[in-house]
Amino acid sequence: MQKKATGAFWKKKERRRQLVIGIWSFPKCVGRSRARALFSLPKNFPRLREKPIPSQSVKYQTFLIFGAPGSGKGTQGKILGSIPRFFHCACGDVFRSLDTRTPLGQAFLKYSSRGELVPDEITVKLWKVRIEDAVGAHVFKPDIDWLVLDGIPRNVGQAKLTEEIIDVKKVFHLSCPDRDALVARLKKRALKDNRFDDANEEVIRRRLATYEAESKPVLEYYGADLIEVIDATQPPVKVLAKILSTITGCNGNGNGQIHAYASAEAENFLA
Ligand code: ADP
Repeated sequence: MQKKATGAFWKKKERRRQLVIGIWSFPKCVGRSRARALFSLPKNFPRLREKPIPSQSVKYQTFLIFGAPGSGKGTQGKILGSIPRFFHCACGDVFRSLDTRTPLGQAFLKYSSRGELVPDEITVKLWKVRIEDAVGAHVFKPDIDWLVLDGIPRNVGQAKLTEEIIDVKKVFHLSCPDRDALVARLKKRALKDNRFDDANEEVIRRRLATYEAESKPVLEYYGADLIEVIDATQPPVKVLAKILSTITGCNGNGNGQIHAYASAEAENFLA
């Protein structure tokens, strides 16, 4: 025979219901304590939520790959990013990964299809979120990894906005004064990588003009001591060899010891 529910039973059930409502509607009561209350878990039940990412305490030790569109930044960045203790982030890829139905995705389409830069505030915010996500996912470990950036900072405004976040150890300037060679490379890329912004020569020329007017002053901003000029018309492997040999001579300050591991990885790669 089924046991009849008594008044005490209903009272207990109601108390539990109210407890549940109360807990869920109290925003600060999240994670461990809420789960414990809901499911009557023991006090020593392991945490259900990851600890929040600690706010950035040291600047990210960074190498910048700098150059005109088509100079080979992405090629070099990808190779460097495949070496242990290097984390590569290309700003163009961050934009291209956006859903083009969102306002941000639409803004990217609008500016890039005209050969213009996306406004600085949006760009730096989006980029910062992407880097912090990588830190949170432990893909980029700032205390032991080098950050390799390509495509950002792309003007002096962005260099200033990122100053608090990154400590630039070297700027690799992939130099290619022959603009026609760059145009030819970009046209080839349009076919190979299906890049809509490379498909039209007029847009390509505008991007090169934007580079001259807005991006090049970044070199002056960082100063000659930080800049390593590399001939971008050389085969990619030679460009890489030059970058790696410079990196192996670099130790990050503050995290110098730790970053020496990354330099050693680069040396192994060279060997
Ligand atoms: P590129 O080979 O021209 O350097 P990217 O993939 O780096 O190509 O960038 C493609 C487009 O994305 C740019 O033309 C620009 O519209 C936008 N973009 C990328 N990075 C930035 C940035 N740091 N600031 C503003 N716009 C950017």
